[in-house]
Amino acid sequence: MNSIDQVDISGKRVLMRVDFNVPVDAGGNVTDTTRIKAHLRTIRYCMEKGAKLVLISHMGRPKGQRVDKLTLKPCAAILSGLLGKEVPFVDDCVGEKAQKAVDAMKPGDVILLENLRFHIGDEKNDPDFARQLAGLADVYIDDAFAVAHRKAASNSAITEAVKACAAGFLLKDEIDYFNRAMKDPQRPLAAIIGGAKVSDKIGVLENLVDTVNMLIIGGGMAFTFLRAMGKEIGRSICEPDMLDKAKSIMEKAGSKNVRILLPVDCVVADKAEAGASVNTCSVDSIPADWMGLDIGPATQKIFGDAVREAKTIVWNGPMGMFELEPFSKGTFGLARDVAASGALSIIGGGDTDSAVHKAGVSDKISYISTGGGAFLELLEGKTMPAVDALERCGG
Ligand code: AMP
Repeated sequence: MNSIDQVDISGKRVLMRVDFNVPVDAGGNVTDTTRIKAHLRTIRYCMEKGAKLVLISHMGRPKGQRVDKLTLKPCAAILSGLLGKEVPFVDDCVGEKAQKAVDAMKPGDVILLENLRFHIGDEKNDPDFARQLAGLADVYIDDAFAVAHRKAASNSAITEAVKACAAGFLLKDEIDYFNRAMKDPQRPLAAIIGGAKVSDKIGVLENLVDTVNMLIIGGGMAFTFLRAMGKEIGRSICEPDMLDKAKSIMEKAGSKNVRILLPVDCVVADKAEAGASVNTCSVDSIPADWMGLDIGPATQKIFGDAVREAKTIVWNGPMGMFELEPFSKGTFGLARDVAASGALSIIGGGDTDSAVHKAGVSDKISYISTGGGAFLELLEGKTMPAVDALERCGG
C-alpha cells in the first residue's frame, strides 16, 4: 500500500477521506475532537506540500437524507481553530457547489464538504457517486481507518475512478502497527481480551488462539469460560450458547501450546451499582446470589506477570465494569502493567482507550487505535475492504 509521501501532491487537488464522525451535543457543539485531531498530521502535510485539500467524511446514519443535526459544519470550525487557518465548509459533497468551491482553491487551502451519507450512493458503494467524488480530485487519499472495514463509495469504488491514490499517515500507521504486532511479532505475543460478552468477540478469540502465545481473558466474558470449566459463577454474566465455543477455544489452546489465563479470583457484588456491597473471592467460591464484576488481586498479579513476560501485547476490552469505581482496579492496574512492560503495546476499542487515559498511562502505550470495529475485524484476521481497494488501484 502506497502512503501519501510516495505520491506527488504538490499543487494537486487532493480528495481525502477522513473520519469526522464526532459526538455532537444538542446545541450542535462537538464534545470530543479526538477524531479530528487524529488526521492533523496528514492534513498539515498536504498543506505544507501546497496541495488543495478537499476533506470528505460521514457523520451518523442519515441514510441518504439531509438531516440537519448530522451536518459536518461544526467540524469545519473546529478544524479552522486547530490549523489556525479558515477551513471553508461547503454544504454538499458533490454537484455544482462542491465543484465551484474546489475550482476556487489555491495551493495550501483546505475545505470540508458536507456529510457523504446525505447521498445514499456512499454506503451503497455506488460507482456513479464515486465518479462524482473522483471528479473533484487529482489524487485520492484514504486516512479513515475507523471505517476501512466497511465498503463505501468514498473508500472503495472511488479507488477505481481516480488516477492516483494512497493511504494517509493515520491509516498507514494503524496497519503498520497492527502488522508489527500480529504478522511478524517479537514473541511472546500476548493478547488481552475483555469486555462483556464472548459472542461479540468469538471470531477474535478463535483467530487469536491460532496466533498468540498467551491469551489473557478477563471481563464479563471470562465467566462463560469459568462456567464451561464447571465452576459455579453465581449471577455473573454468562452466555449458555457460548459454553461449547469456550470449551473448544480452551481445547485448541491446549493442543497448540497457547497459555490461556483466566481469573482465579474476582471482585463480587450483590448488584452492579457503585453503592453495592462488595467482596473478593476465589472463582471457586462465588456466592450464588452475587456477581463477579472485576478481576481480583491474585488475578491482577498473574495477568501482570504475564504482561511483563510479553514482548508484544494487543489489548481490547476491560477486565471489569470499570466505569464504576469499585470494579475499576483490575482494568486500571493492568493498564499500568501494560504501560510499564516495555513491550510493543497496541490497544483498540473505546473502553480500553478510555481506561488507559483514566489510568494516566496513555502516553506509554505504543499505539492506541482509532478504530473500534475496524480494530476488532483486524484481530479477527479479516482484511479491510478499503485497504484492499487501495492496493488494487496501485495505491
Ligand atoms: P465490550 O464493549 O464488549 O468491550 O464490553 C465493555 C463493557 O463490558 C463495559 O461497559 C464493562 O462495564 C462491561 N463489563 C466488563 N466486565 C464485566 C463484568 N464482569 N460483568 C458485566 N459487565 C462487564
